[in-house]
Amino acid sequence: MKSEPPKKLTPMRAIRAKCLDCCCWQPSEVRLCTTKQCPLYSYRMGHRPKDTAGEQE
Ligand code: SF4
Repeated sequence: MKSEPPKKLTPMRAIRAKCLDCCCWQPSEVRLCTTKQCPLYSYRMGHRPKDTAGEQE
């Protein structure tokens, strides 16, 4: 059996992985997260929110 090579780790994938780790690897729990004061909250679904796309700091 051939295993797939690991996907390149990007900042968004790292955030998603952290949120999954925070929620015992339950994607539904990440979606239901209520900790809006967490700095990762807006990025927890693995993509940038539309209103911050292209934002540079
Ligand atoms: S946004 Fe929610 S799920 Fe993600 S790290 Fe913060 S508290 Fe955990």
